[in-house]
Amino acid sequence: MQNNKLLAGIVTGIVAGALLGGLNPEAGLAVNFIGHLFITFLMMIVMPLIIAAMISGICRFGDVRKLGPLGLKTLIYYLTTTALSVTTGIALVLMIHPGQLASETEQIEARGGIVLKDASYSIENNTIIIDGASLPGEYTSSYSVLLLDRNVKGGILSHHGKNGGETIEVSSWTQDEKNLENLAVTGKGIVIDKLPAERFLQEERTITDILREVLTGLIPSNLFKAMAENDILPVITFSLLLGAVLSTLGVQGKPVIDFFNGLNEAIMKIVHLAMYAAPVGIGALIAGRLGEAGGFTGFLPELLRLGKYAFTVIAGLLIHSMVILPLILKFFGKTGIMRFAYNTSPALLTAFSTASSSATLPLTVECAEEKNNVSPRTAGFVLPLGATINMDGTALYEAVAVIFIAQINGITLGPPELVIIFLTATLAAIGAAGIPEAGLVTMVLVLKAVNLPIEGISLILAIDWFLDRCRTTVNVWGDSVGAKIIDRYVKLANHR
Ligand code: ASP
Repeated sequence: MQNNKLLAGIVTGIVAGALLGGLNPEAGLAVNFIGHLFITFLMMIVMPLIIAAMISGICRFGDVRKLGPLGLKTLIYYLTTTALSVTTGIALVLMIHPGQLASETEQIEARGGIVLKDASYSIENNTIIIDGASLPGEYTSSYSVLLLDRNVKGGILSHHGKNGGETIEVSSWTQDEKNLENLAVTGKGIVIDKLPAERFLQEERTITDILREVLTGLIPSNLFKAMAENDILPVITFSLLLGAVLSTLGVQGKPVIDFFNGLNEAIMKIVHLAMYAAPVGIGALIAGRLGEAGGFTGFLPELLRLGKYAFTVIAGLLIHSMVILPLILKFFGKTGIMRFAYNTSPALLTAFSTASSSATLPLTVECAEEKNNVSPRTAGFVLPLGATINMDGTALYEAVAVIFIAQINGITLGPPELVIIFLTATLAAIGAAGIPEAGLVTMVLVLKAVNLPIEGISLILAIDWFLDRCRTTVNVWGDSVGAKIIDRYVKLANHR
């Protein structure tokens, strides 16, 4: 399909999907299954695509010794661009300071607490009975309660009831104010706040632990189990090995290589078919996700509430993808940005709608090979690897999110902690699978490395699905730029 027609189709799909899901969440949810069909179709071809593309790509190099320099260049590209993006993220979040909010009430609410200045209360036997106000959340032992008019604080034991008549049982008061425990008192004004962040958790994770986890994840104990679980990294290891060995076998290896070449061609034809479904699939995915978020009226207030944080993440992603990567592409890939971006846009829009680098991989390969002239051998090697370990967007987001969580909790991070965040965010991005919200899970590593509370994740949960799409788009963009640059060096080396 022509790129402009495809693109027009996808953009129409996105606009229609956003309007449908945004204005009518129920209708969005109703078409969700069409989007899932699209993702499932893509996921169905990912595993065979990786195996066939990698093996056939590697064998096209002819000499397995050429893989060393290619691997090294690829690694250098991945690490440098990821490091640049984390640095951009850290610089921005320190500059913008999204965790510092205007008022104390805002700060408390951002932490998940609530300020009820006018609520009256009465106390009986350590139980606060709230009159005339209902609490929006569940408040358990990780919260404290403050009686505003008396300036007495207590730890919460439990919270019962809903919609009026709510009670809060206090575990202990920090001050024996007029023997509150025995007296029945009444008053006005209640604040419920998250307890100060527990900075020193029992279980500490060092960078070596994290490295060890990434390394052990490279080798499958059972290849088919890894394939069945869509665990890409071990499958890449196996394909690399098999491709390298096949290329040394001579006549004996030839029929097997031919088989994988043929399989690769066939899979790419299936990817072509998937392109036809892209506009509808992408539109349905957007409609479905907006529907799940309660339409525009459900999503926009959340986005505004966390606006400064979302702005920081998005600004970082834009700087990295629209300034830093294009400069690298121009300088090292000798390629102009406009046409390249235009040619890659079907993959980028698919990344935005699926929030999965792995599911997008078939389209990333197609755009690179068919439209951006990247040779199949480079694309076959660089792109599957990139979809799993090269995640510039995720690394940037992890750094921003972790520092934001620290800021909201009133914790200042010193230079050594920022260095740890830099290293662990890079590792956490490498370790994140190319699936939706994987970055949110691996962020636990970063939080633990600097002893921040993992519950902090709940602060950013509400809009993570949206930021996930933005960062996945940048992940795929970084992979595509990398494939083009590395391909140039491969071609230069061959001409020598
Ligand atoms: N969804 C992202 C990806 O597939 C990973 C993440 O959650 O950051 O690239």
